[in-house]
Amino acid sequence: MEAALPERLARAITLAGPISVAQFMAAANAHYYASRDPLGAAGDFVTAPEISQMFGELIGLWLADLWGRAGRPQCAYVELGPGRGTLAVDALRAMAKAGLTTAVHLVETSPTLRAAQAVKLPDAHWHEDVSGLPQDMALLVIANEFFDALPVRQLVRGVTGWHERMVACQDTLFLPIAGKLVPDSIIPAGLCDAAAGAIIETSPASVGIMRGLADRLVKQGGAMLAIDYGYQGPAIGDTLQAVRAHRFANPFEQPGEQDLTTHVDFATLSAAATVQGASPWGPVAQGTFLTALGIDARAAALGPTVQADRDRLVAPDQMGTLFKALALTAPDWPKPAGFA
Ligand code: SAH
Repeated sequence: MEAALPERLARAITLAGPISVAQFMAAANAHYYASRDPLGAAGDFVTAPEISQMFGELIGLWLADLWGRAGRPQCAYVELGPGRGTLAVDALRAMAKAGLTTAVHLVETSPTLRAAQAVKLPDAHWHEDVSGLPQDMALLVIANEFFDALPVRQLVRGVTGWHERMVACQDTLFLPIAGKLVPDSIIPAGLCDAAAGAIIETSPASVGIMRGLADRLVKQGGAMLAIDYGYQGPAIGDTLQAVRAHRFANPFEQPGEQDLTTHVDFATLSAAATVQGASPWGPVAQGTFLTALGIDARAAALGPTVQADRDRLVAPDQMGTLFKALALTAPDWPKPAGFA
């Protein structure tokens, strides 16, 4: 039988030396998502589409409105990291009511979650990454709590300069250490002289996906909506966190058994898309976005039982401010709703 992930990582580090934070996070999350459905009260965390059908419905209407104003081109619904498929089901139902029916393409690496998605979306097409998405139609791309799960590289300020942050191992205890010095030229302007111990994060994996999708939108038409918790970087800060059974945990413990995430740098994602020629919108706070799309009217129609769910999605002290929506459109597509 294959050894468990912590033993395999410990062995690899003992043999070949410390691995980068990005390698550690990639290995841990690949195992984590492949081996379970982490969503819901009995799992580790709850996401917006699992809180209320209103979330996916409003996103479906957002897509249908934009598609209508873009001249009703042929297009595909694409979702990155669709979890249980709940958002897709709610969005597709709302889109169909608005006259938009499309093929469904899901980018998902976890076999366990693919199986869960197939129950709800039996006609979907699955992809390991964005490279295999259709090339001959506009793409309507949704990513909710996807980018936060992608690996980040961390750089840590030492006394003389910046170091790659690495993960070392003693017995089976993993711990972050400062690795090789990196040139100051890769540090964003203004952050170079931060105090010792300061940490900067970048996500080359996220930037690569963003560039690839933006390029597709420019060539094929379409739009993308990414919703996540995040900030406008570059900034100093260690946002790597682990969640297990709805509680924060040490991210360097038990790799593969807890969800590792970081806050998403929307400014960097937006800049990556702009370089390819796509038009960026926002980010705006999730509460502002959902309110502009009419969540209050939808909640009123569904009745008083959904008021608490509405508050959870929109209230500033719940998900309303921390979570943000960033949109991209093809340059010749109209302005999307919800972005002032
Ligand atoms: N969007 C869903 C699930 C969020 S959890 C929701 O809001 O409920 C993160 C999702 O991204 C999971 O489906 C996970 O399997 C998937 N995922 C994580 N890393 C991935 C990667 N590198 N490529 C594709 N999917 C990935």
